[in-house]
Amino acid sequence: MTASLTPKPWIAAIHAYVPGKSAGADGRPLVKLSANENPLGCSPKALAARAQAVHPALYPDGDSTALREAIGQMHGIEPNRVIMGSGSGELLYLAASAYAGPGDEVLFSQYSFSLYDIVARRCGAEPVEAKAKDYGTDVDAMLAAVTPRTRVVIVANPNNPTGTYLPRAEIARLHAGLPADVLLVLDQAYAEYVAPERDDGSLELAASQPNVLVTRTFSKAYGLAGERVGWGTGPRAVIEVLNRIRGAFNVSNEAQAMALVALADQDFVVHSREHNARVRGNFVAAMEALGNHGVSVVPSEANFVMILFEGRLTGEAAYNGLAEAGYITRWLPSSGLGHGLRITIGTDEQMAAIAAILRDLAEQAQ
Ligand SMILES: *Cc1c(COP(=O)(O)O)cnc(C)c1O
Repeated sequence: MTASLTPKPWIAAIHAYVPGKSAGADGRPLVKLSANENPLGCSPKALAARAQAVHPALYPDGDSTALREAIGQMHGIEPNRVIMGSGSGELLYLAASAYAGPGDEVLFSQYSFSLYDIVARRCGAEPVEAKAKDYGTDVDAMLAAVTPRTRVVIVANPNNPTGTYLPRAEIARLHAGLPADVLLVLDQAYAEYVAPERDDGSLELAASQPNVLVTRTFSKAYGLAGERVGWGTGPRAVIEVLNRIRGAFNVSNEAQAMALVALADQDFVVHSREHNARVRGNFVAAMEALGNHGVSVVPSEANFVMILFEGRLTGEAAYNGLAEAGYITRWLPSSGLGHGLRITIGTDEQMAAIAAILRDLAEQAQ
């Protein structure tokens, strides 16, 4: 008998994360509106800081000390309650593997971030999906899905891929309904795109509750997706546990240097938020004008919108039509969203072009 190398069964069951595409089937470059990247790039000051980073021959500061202090100062958090990750994705893995394992459940909403399923399975836990309501997180359904085996609950707010948003009272109600031995992870990857007066109170919960972790990222509004920097905050005890299992040098010299300068350039972040709100508003209005063709929009607080195609023009035909015209968007049939397209908010010109293409496609489909 020959023994053969076998991955653990829960690892074998994982389907690898599928990133947004950037080229067509024929390799032709396309305008990429499939990964929620910042169409304005990043802070020019951060770009300049790249050259000033600690020499690549040297290991980075494994504790990202200056960056944690700056984040702490900006948000009023003690730096020892801030953990840096190689993207906030790393922090989601750490949270699940610290508190869940084989026999446990990790709960999240239907139509939420596809990484959550992988995060749950990688640590051997069972992913559990609560039914969504109006394409967003349904707090009642989430609470009803909690069992004695639930160890971690993950909520993206705003939610990706649908852009929906739970207000402060709903986040508080979800937390209040969870047992004390369940970790609530509030994934705020798009928080900087939300108007400050609509803040969902996540950071306050992370500061005051023993079982709340908030994750944020430099990948979206800060425009540093390629540098892989995310951060998390929660109770001291949780941060201390996650620090034990993170990559020792998980944020590169360049990433630390750029994120530090990007954080200080809040003008860029505000400009990104305002640009996004304005262009998104115009695009949503253009899509709502196609209502008689069965086109509708899921209300979004993020830098993307989920457009639903429930008339003659299908989600698949809209996706292919845009791709033929040079625009790549996100079509997610395997998430039960075959009738929709997630479109990142790009520049005024890009969104006007997309709106015109979709109008033509909808009219031709009649
Ligand atoms: C983009 C995104 C992230 C961020 O990923 P990084 O690893 O920080 O680049 C996390 N959660 C959601 C829901 C996202 O859409």
